[in-house]
Amino acid sequence: MSKSDFRSGAVDSVAKLHSPPGVAAAPVDMSYFSEDVFNDCAMRKYLPEAVAAKLLATVNDGVALDPAIAADVAHAMKHWALDRGATHFTHWFLPLNGSTAEKHDSFLELENNQAIMSFSGKNLIMSEPDASSFPSGGLRSTFEARGYTAWDPTSPAFIKRHSNGATLCIPTAFCSYTGETLDKKTPLLRSNQALSKAVKRLMKCFNLPDEQVVITLGAEQEYFLIDKHFYLHRPDLLQTGRTLFGAPPAKHQQLEDHYFGSIKSRVLSFMTEVETELWKLGIPAKTRHNEGAPAQFELAPIFENVNLAVDHNMLVMEVLRQVADRHSLVCLLHEKPFAGVNGSGKHNNWSVNYGDLKLLKPGNNPEQNAIFLTVLCGIIQAVDLHSDILRASVAGAGNDHRLGANEAPPAIISIYVGEQLNEVIEQLEKGTTGVGRKMGKMQIGVDTLPLLPRDAADRNRTSPFAFTGNKFEFRAPGSSQCCAGPMMILNTIVADSLDKIAAELEGFSGKDFNKKLQKLLQNIIKTHKRVLFHGDNYTASWRKEAARRGLPNAESTLEALEAFSNPENIELFARHGVFTAKEMESRHEVFGEEYRRKICIEGQVGLEIVRSMIIPAVTAEYSSALTALNAAKTAGLTAGIEGLSKTAQLLGEGLDAMVAKCALLEQELNGDGRDILALLNSLRDTVDSLELMVADSRWPLPKYREMLFVY
Ligand code: ADP
Ligand code: MG
Repeated sequence: MSKSDFRSGAVDSVAKLHSPPGVAAAPVDMSYFSEDVFNDCAMRKYLPEAVAAKLLATVNDGVALDPAIAADVAHAMKHWALDRGATHFTHWFLPLNGSTAEKHDSFLELENNQAIMSFSGKNLIMSEPDASSFPSGGLRSTFEARGYTAWDPTSPAFIKRHSNGATLCIPTAFCSYTGETLDKKTPLLRSNQALSKAVKRLMKCFNLPDEQVVITLGAEQEYFLIDKHFYLHRPDLLQTGRTLFGAPPAKHQQLEDHYFGSIKSRVLSFMTEVETELWKLGIPAKTRHNEGAPAQFELAPIFENVNLAVDHNMLVMEVLRQVADRHSLVCLLHEKPFAGVNGSGKHNNWSVNYGDLKLLKPGNNPEQNAIFLTVLCGIIQAVDLHSDILRASVAGAGNDHRLGANEAPPAIISIYVGEQLNEVIEQLEKGTTGVGRKMGKMQIGVDTLPLLPRDAADRNRTSPFAFTGNKFEFRAPGSSQCCAGPMMILNTIVADSLDKIAAELEGFSGKDFNKKLQKLLQNIIKTHKRVLFHGDNYTASWRKEAARRGLPNAESTLEALEAFSNPENIELFARHGVFTAKEMESRHEVFGEEYRRKICIEGQVGLEIVRSMIIPAVTAEYSSALTALNAAKTAGLTAGIEGLSKTAQLLGEGLDAMVAKCALLEQELNGDGRDILALLNSLRDTVDSLELMVADSRWPLPKYREMLFVY
C-alpha cells in the first residue's frame, strides 16, 4: 500500500462519519451528579451519624482526623463501593512525573476457603505500594526504597469505571519511609497550611475574629482533538505528544474563525459525554468552547478548594483522553502539539477566602478595601520577590514552546491589575488624597477609603498573571501540567509576603495602625511596582523593558529550574514547612532529569522518522524526477529538462541536508545532548520545505491540514 492510501483512507473514514441530526433530548435529570463520589450524602447514608459528623468536620472544617473512626469509614466505603460494582480499591496519588498513579488490590480475602470482601481501617489509611520506579530525586535509595501512601480525607474517594467493572479510588499522599514527600499533593497541603497561617496572622492585625481560610482554584483546561486515524500514523505524536515535523497549512488560525465558533457536532457529542462522566465524579464542568487554533478547545469547571480542584483537574485530563478514544478521537494535552498555531495552557484561577470574606474582592466598605489592598500588595510583593520560583513551577519541555517562544504568555513574570486598580495603586504610591480620574478619593487611611470598582475588568489577555475581578489568573501553567506545583509555589510565596506584612503591623492599632499600613503599602508599591505591566506581553519591546527593570527571563526549563537551588528559596520553603532543603533539591533533580529525557526521546524519534520515513519518500521522489529527466533527454525533448533538473537538484540538496543533519543529531544524542532541540529544529526546516515539494501521494506523515481540519 502506498503511503497516500492510508492518509486518504483516514480522510475517507472521517468523511463517512455522518453527522446525525439533533435528538429530541430527554428531560434533564441531574440526580447523577456526584453519584460516584463518597460525599456527604453517601457518608450520611452508609456511616453512623456520629462518625459521619466527625469525618465531615475533617473534610469541611479542617479538623484533624480522629484515627478511631478509620475502621468504620473503611467499612462504609467498602459497602458503598461494592454497591457500585467495585471489586478493587486503590490508593490514588500524584507522583512527581506529573501523572496519576494507582495500584489495584481487590477486596478479596479468604476465610475458610470462602471468598469475602474485606477492607480494613488500615487498608484505608495507609498502603505501601512498591512504586520504586517513580522519580524521587535521590530521596529513596534502593536499600531503603519503601514508599507509603497515606489517605487524604479532604479529597473524597471516588469510583472509576471501566468497560468491565469499577475501582474504588482513595486520594492519598505519597511519601518515603523517612517522611519526605515523593508526590505533588503533600507540598500542596503543606503550602495551604502555610498560607492559611499567614492569612490568619494578617487578619488578626485587622482585628478580625478567627475564621477558616479557603484557597480556591478554577483550572481552565485547553486541549486539541484530532481523529485517531491520523494520530496512529504520526510516530512523533504517539511518542512525544507533539508533531516534530509538519509544514503549516496555508490556512490555520489567521482568520480567527475557530475561537468561540459553533462547535462541530462530533466534538459536541464528545464534550457532552465528557461532561456526563465528570458530573458523575462530582467535577463541576461548566464552560466549553472552541479555542484559538483549529481543532483546539477548552473546558472550565466551577472553582473549588484548591486540593480538590487539583485532583479534579487530573481526572479531567484522564476523562478527556478516555472519552476521546471512545469517539475515535485523540485528545492532545501537550503544550505545543502543532508548530505555528497556538499552544495549550491551563489558566489557574486562584483566590483566597477568609470565612465569608473574599480577600481578593474589592469590598463594600473602607475596612474591607484596606484588607483587599493589603492582600493585593502582598501578592505584588510576593511575585516580584519570587518570580524566579514561580516561573520554575511551570517549567517543562512542552511548556518551553509557549513560554520561551513568541507566544502567550512569556517567560517573564509580570502582573496585570487593570487600569482602574492601577490608578488606585499609583495614588497609593504617591500618598495623595487627590481625586483620581475614575476613582474619587484615594487615601488609604481606613476611614477614607473609596469604594473600589467591582469590575476591575481584565482586558489584557497577554499577561501571565492577571487580576480578574476577584481572583488572580496565572496563565503560565501548561496544558499537561499538574496544577499542584504552581499552586503550591504561589501559596508559599504569598504566605511569606503576608507574614512579612503582618510582622510590620503587629502592635499597632487605631490611627497608628492606619498610618503604619498606609506607609507600608506605599513602600511595597515603590519597591515592587516594576513587576506591574499593562502592555502587550508578546512584544520584543517588553522583553527589553523587562530586562531594564531587572525582571528575570528564564526562557528554558533548565535555566528556570535553577530557582530550586537558590539558597533564598530553599530557606523560604523550609521556613514555611513546605520543603526541606533535601526535598527542594530532589525536585530540581527530578524535573531536570525529566526534561533531559524528554528532549532525548524527541531527538531519537525525530531521527528515526527522518531516516526511515522521510528520506525514503524523498529518495523515491528524486528518483522519479531523474527517471523523467532521463526519459525526456532520451526522447530528445528540450521542454521540461530545465524544470526536471531543478526539481531533482532541490530534492537532491534536501537529501544531502537531511543526511548531514541526521548525522549531527545522532552525534549529539550520543554526546552531552545540549543542542538536540536546535538540531532537531534545523532538521525540521529541511523536512518541512521538502513536504511542500514531494508528491502529496508519497508523503508518509498525515499533514497539518488533515489533522487540524479533518475531524
Ligand atoms: P475566562 O476564559 O474569561 O478566563 P472562564 O469563565 O473560562 O473565564 O474561567 C474562569 C475560571 O475562573 C472558572 O473556572 C471559574 O470557576 C474560576 N473562578 C471564578 N471565581 C473564582 C475564584 N474566586 N477562585 C478561583 N477560581 C475562580
Ligand atoms: Mg481565563
